[in-house]
Amino acid sequence: MSNFDEIKENNININEMFRKLINQMKKSNIKTFNEDGTLNENIRKILELELKKCISIYCFEYGFEFPKESVSVHEAKTKDGQINRNPELNARGDIDGVTVYSGLQNGLDTILTSSNVGLRGQILEDGKIHATQVFNKDIISTKLSGEKNVSSNRDQLDYFAELLISGKIDLDFILDVFPHEAMHIFIPGQGVFVEGATERLSREVSDKYGLRMSPTSHSKETAIISRLESIVGRDAILSIALTNNQKELRKVEKNATDTLRFKKLKEAIDNKMGSGTFDKLKDELDKEYREFLKYRTKPNEFQMYRKDFFSSTIEYLNEWIKNNPDKLQISNNNDISENQKIEIIKIQKEEINQIQLLLDRLKSKEIEGEVK
Ligand SMILES: [Zn+2]
Repeated sequence: MSNFDEIKENNININEMFRKLINQMKKSNIKTFNEDGTLNENIRKILELELKKCISIYCFEYGFEFPKESVSVHEAKTKDGQINRNPELNARGDIDGVTVYSGLQNGLDTILTSSNVGLRGQILEDGKIHATQVFNKDIISTKLSGEKNVSSNRDQLDYFAELLISGKIDLDFILDVFPHEAMHIFIPGQGVFVEGATERLSREVSDKYGLRMSPTSHSKETAIISRLESIVGRDAILSIALTNNQKELRKVEKNATDTLRFKKLKEAIDNKMGSGTFDKLKDELDKEYREFLKYRTKPNEFQMYRKDFFSSTIEYLNEWIKNNPDKLQISNNNDISENQKIEIIKIQKEEINQIQLLLDRLKSKEIEGEVK
């Protein structure tokens, strides 16, 4: 049995435990959050382990650098309700920076109203900015910032926490998006290349290592990246992931760093498909991506996106692949090392213990309830 198969077997068990946990929590009407709005300590521990597990697997599988700092995706800052349009410039190291999920970044940019992620926010009586809708669903208004300055450093888990507080999006949802969002730690940003590579790689790892993942997400972007990958190879795709140094640099020089990170991919595409192909593809994809964002959270119109958007690009790539079979690259299926396996199994064991602990506790509560 390969090392990744062993990890996979454990993950399948863990996913089954998650299923039980979610059912048990629903049954016992157990809240994921405490009265004071903080995340249930047990759930937080479990999610942290799940995140640690994803990060470790990604690093071992793709050779990414382990993050030096606590996990975060985007940083933004507000002052007197005004949105700092270039948050990366100032947020680093500031105690009044707030770290938000990539989707929320757009929301902050448009004074907390963004159809892109179905996020809506408003300044309520207390003078503070609250999120009132996420993914176009009403949520219990959740304070996003302080009166004048955003007041806390938060991370991805806090974003998930916010969704959980809303009570509309539960642990199920979080686990579904986890592998993708965790991949953004290494591949931050937006657009087709970023989302496609993020989804493609996290989906591949999910298949290989049995991570739980949502059945559909960014399917067209993924289709584009998987085709590009067969043309230019895995390494070229992986080259858009950031090293720790580049992550630091990107906080102060976003555009320059992003130009740099796409250099290798651009070279690979232009070398193989003709000079200027990358820019042409990128322009076309950026245009379509902006269109797509308009449809993203509207189920009916989203169908249109699924049918039409990016189709011509995919066709173009399909055609190219058909006509150049001798130029294609085949990706490998490397195994991780014995030591890497042991490291992940250690996290999995901890995770299993934590989930079991919670399951046992819920079980005894249930019995208690029956006795009463
Ligand atoms: Zn994404």
